[in-house]
Amino acid sequence: PLSCGIVGLPNVGKSTLFNAITQAGAESANYPFCTIDPNVGIVEVPDERLDKLTELVVPQKTVPTAFEFIDIAGIVKGASKGEGLGNKFLAHIREVDAIVHVVRCFEDENITHVSGGVDPLSDIQTINLELVLADLDTVERRIERSRKNMKGGDKKYAQEIELLERVKEALYDDKPVRSLELTDEERAILRELHLLTIKPILYAANVSEQEAADLDGNRYVQIVREFAAAENAEVVPISARVESEIAELEGEDKAMFLEELGLQESGLNRLIRAAYKLLGLYTYFTAGVQEVRAWTIRKGMKAPQAAGVIHTDFERGFIRAEVVSYGDLVSAGSMNGARERGQLRLEGKEYVVQDGDVMHFRFNV
Ligand code: GDP
Repeated sequence: PLSCGIVGLPNVGKSTLFNAITQAGAESANYPFCTIDPNVGIVEVPDERLDKLTELVVPQKTVPTAFEFIDIAGIVKGASKGEGLGNKFLAHIREVDAIVHVVRCFEDENITHVSGGVDPLSDIQTINLELVLADLDTVERRIERSRKNMKGGDKKYAQEIELLERVKEALYDDKPVRSLELTDEERAILRELHLLTIKPILYAANVSEQEAADLDGNRYVQIVREFAAAENAEVVPISARVESEIAELEGEDKAMFLEELGLQESGLNRLIRAAYKLLGLYTYFTAGVQEVRAWTIRKGMKAPQAAGVIHTDFERGFIRAEVVSYGDLVSAGSMNGARERGQLRLEGKEYVVQDGDVMHFRFNV
């Protein structure tokens, strides 16, 4: 499954946030929190469309889609030199699909700040620097290897070196690789390098309990926003402490607590949605009377592959799919209504599934 890694300096609130995430996941009947790995938390993706489909179809069961958050604890300074837990830290980041960087924006004299005072910009740069240095190392090694290979006179390597030099220059300027404009072809070349700073990132700005209802009133959040804007990254202000309290509650109690705080929904929901978006994923739905369910696919997946997410047999025996877009289904009011309006399409193997498609697969067993 796809995953987001949670990183950040010590004492910024990572564990607090991660505990809120796993607590919320533990309450789910669909994805009971897996106790196998304490560093992995599964979260369900809140989606209004799924609620609406449930209203329309009235199924026995509704199942949201889910992805993983991984707690990447560990150090940071000196990681790129392989000091301490550094190598492990970087190896874990290499495995995730996106990064959630928790930044301390709360003041509390009782909780030591590793670098003296609250300074979100310096925190961000400390971690980013390690990632940049690690990538620089990877890129330089690759350039060396490609130069050797090029002695054979292969044009492919010349092109590759040119790209790598450009990447190297950006890294020397302290710029993450994600900030570069890259063609699909270039991305394909870089994919093999498993770079860290090419991964999509979002900043979770951890504010104090008192600021949970007025997230943007915090001046540190503004600083993080300015920095992130230049990187085209998203910022989710959140109070990890409040989230851990919310996560302990259920149903009515939860709703009341949120109301008391003056919040529409939990910050965790906002964070989950933002992280899901960061992963660049699409959601399609199946909507039967037994089960209405959301499924996750990557953008560009064709119908048989999308069916394979449900079961490999669906992909192998794929014949065709009946498809109606979410918007059409809702305005028609029912599957039959959509059929009468001619909005229920029959699609074949080459159909590229769209976000919000409601699908029914026909397949051979
Ligand atoms: P980690 O080292 O990044 O995992 O940080 P922790 O989640 O362990 O948090 C470090 C300390 O900061 C703990 O004592 C938390 O209770 C505290 N903490 C986390 N969030 C907040 C907050 O919003 N306000 C205050 N006052 N303390 C917080």
